[in-house]
Amino acid sequence: MKVTVVGAGLVGCLLTCFLARRGHEVTLYERRSNPRKAGAERGRSINLAISERGIDALRRVGLDRQVLAGALPMPGRMMHAVDGALTFQPYSADGTRAINSISRGDLNRILLDAAEAMPGVEVVFDHRLTGLSEATGTLSFDTPGGPVEVEKAQVVLGADGAFSAVRAHLQWRPGFDFSQDYLDYGYKELTIPAKDGGYAMDPGALHIWPRGSSMMIALPDPGGSFTCTLFWPKSGPGSFADLDTPAKVEEHFARHYPDAQALMPDLLDDYAHNPVGHLVTMRCSPWQIQGEQTVVGLIGDAAHAIVPFYGQGANAGFEDCVELDRCLAETGDDFAAALRLYQDRRKRHADTIAELALDNFIEMRDRVASRAFLAQKKVEHA
Ligand code: FAD
Repeated sequence: MKVTVVGAGLVGCLLTCFLARRGHEVTLYERRSNPRKAGAERGRSINLAISERGIDALRRVGLDRQVLAGALPMPGRMMHAVDGALTFQPYSADGTRAINSISRGDLNRILLDAAEAMPGVEVVFDHRLTGLSEATGTLSFDTPGGPVEVEKAQVVLGADGAFSAVRAHLQWRPGFDFSQDYLDYGYKELTIPAKDGGYAMDPGALHIWPRGSSMMIALPDPGGSFTCTLFWPKSGPGSFADLDTPAKVEEHFARHYPDAQALMPDLLDDYAHNPVGHLVTMRCSPWQIQGEQTVVGLIGDAAHAIVPFYGQGANAGFEDCVELDRCLAETGDDFAAALRLYQDRRKRHADTIAELALDNFIEMRDRVASRAFLAQKKVEHA
């Protein structure tokens, strides 16, 4: 079958590997230029926590070892109190299970290389989907050379992220449910560079500075640095809008994040130049429709974008690929039937992780601090 996948992000590339392995001819369209030639997008999360759910999917296409070779295991979280006290909370009772800090760019490149190396796969960059007709199978794209139309799609799978153009097209259809909920919080990335040739903090942990109504986290990068992410309100006291001068930023960090500030020589430059990203939950249904000529489906963030506080968005998208592959096997590669089955099985899981991710923001920015405080008191009284 000729399949068109829109979006060569994490999920689109992995999905292409699964489909090509089943013998389908896949054309993968991506709006960006080839990431192996262009630089990384500034402001997009630089590294991701990939857990066993995601690794299981990678293992099935033989990519787990290659991905894990560049990963840093984080067997627990390290809480930073305002006075600099550290408390480690392991993620598993015996301390052996870990989530893995992985560079988004490296992961995307590994997946893209793997997809491109599969027989029957063509990857087309600089093509931004602008329209699609499931009646005729025609896809319209914006390209650097102007608009183009392609007439060949029997199956179109939208893996084009939270602001999916494929989903936008489905949204016009009667009976299509869609909601988007923005948090009043944004995120901004900062860096703690390597210090004296090594990590400035323990690289075997996800670091958290819980500060009640806001927080900062940090994940280790392979090169010895940490990528920190501020999750702050967009407006009001202590917000991105409020802290709008170097003096205010310095004063705020000195008061709330003094240990981190001491490790951030480029704090003011990063703060001034890195954008504030939005945090949004997108829900929709159905994830598939059967047109006259074309069946259209959604996968990954295009079907269910969630806030990042459980570190499970990409993991969930990878699980979608595994489930769709399973449904194709069960239906003899009947895409319409397989996509319906895949939605039946995955939708409730996607809705559940969306809720858990929202709840975990409160856990991370607030409750972990009280647990860390109690643990410290126990140690003091022991
Ligand atoms: P995307 O990664 O958004 O990829 C979509 C692709 O489609 C992109 O390449 C885009 O250029 C392309 N595209 C978009 N529109 C078009 C178009 N019209 N035509 C052609 N191409 C198009 N998840 C985790 O599992 N662990 C984490 O630790 C984690 N941390 C995160 C931290 C932050 C701050 C954020 C914002 C998210 C985090 N996530 C994490 C979530 C994760 O980033 C997403 O779930 C994941 O990237 C979804 O992959 P995707 O391929 O579905 O979409």
